[in-house]
Amino acid sequence: MRFGRLAPSGAVVLADVPEPVPGTGEITVRLAACGVCGTDLEKLRGNYRTAGILGHEPVGRVARVGAGVVGLAEGDRVFVHHHVPCYACPVCARGDLTFCPEYSRSNLDPGGFAEVFRVPAANVARGAVLPLDPAVEWGSGALLEPAGCALTALRRVAPPDGASYVILGLGPIGLLYARVARALGASWIGGTDLSSRRRDAARGGGVDETLDPREDGGLRRAVDRATQGVGVDVAVVATGDPTAARTGVELLRRGGTLNLMGLPAPGSRLDVDLQQLYLRGVRVVPTYATTEPDLRELHRLLVGKTLALASLVSHAIPLERIGEAFALAGRPDDALKVVVTGPAF
Ligand SMILES: [Zn+2]
Ligand SMILES: [Zn+2]
Repeated sequence: MRFGRLAPSGAVVLADVPEPVPGTGEITVRLAACGVCGTDLEKLRGNYRTAGILGHEPVGRVARVGAGVVGLAEGDRVFVHHHVPCYACPVCARGDLTFCPEYSRSNLDPGGFAEVFRVPAANVARGAVLPLDPAVEWGSGALLEPAGCALTALRRVAPPDGASYVILGLGPIGLLYARVARALGASWIGGTDLSSRRRDAARGGGVDETLDPREDGGLRRAVDRATQGVGVDVAVVATGDPTAARTGVELLRRGGTLNLMGLPAPGSRLDVDLQQLYLRGVRVVPTYATTEPDLRELHRLLVGKTLALASLVSHAIPLERIGEAFALAGRPDDALKVVVTGPAF
């Protein structure tokens, strides 16, 4: 079978390997679709210091079930979460599940962009295989993980009812954040992106006002109009651009929250005046990845039609053309969310 892997040259290429066989407590899954994430693109650029496994947003059908697995059968439609916390350590006990030291130790083999991939026993045992309701088609299913990241972020931020937001960066993560924040009762959302295509998509998807960040003072004026000069409750950094954090702090109300969502480049610094941060009581909340309870909640929101995500998928490209899928995902004016499709699609 074939899978997409990172070549030493930094390109994504197809490799041929034997189909994985599930061991005790494991399953294998035949791929239907897996989203190309910003972090996959950063791995190609060499900016993300983790093992070079690509693809962590997969949905598909259970191919084979290993000994001792209960509750899953061949052919089941599932979403699979690649990482899973231990639920037993002091970090998990405090509820910070995605910061569990065990969290990123497990992963899909050989990754999510594979015709068939193996799910480790820890993931199966700890609930990281989620049955997909028939109402959730493959494209929306492939958005569960990144949308889950937005829900986990919002849980950690714990915004007040009817909160106002600015989202800096309207790529797939920013667009998903806007939809989830809207589903949870946001009163006003403003956003910026360099790409006019992304700004258009945001306006059709829950963002009240969108601006080009190069437009001097435009966002400040929009925030002042929307909040009577008070500032927003939450500023979300959904871009790797380190200057966005400073812009976010400036747009916050006193006591507001700066939510760091986008993966910063290694070594990037938070360039803000700490005295301003102190005197204005700004909270800085980094949020990373998502959890099984939040994925289940998100699945409920999708099934109940409180949340609709399908329109964010701009391209579904077969695994054989994975290089094209990655190239498209890296061009903001040409694509929103790109998903790679497999044999179960
Ligand atoms: Zn992702
Ligand atoms: Zn833990």
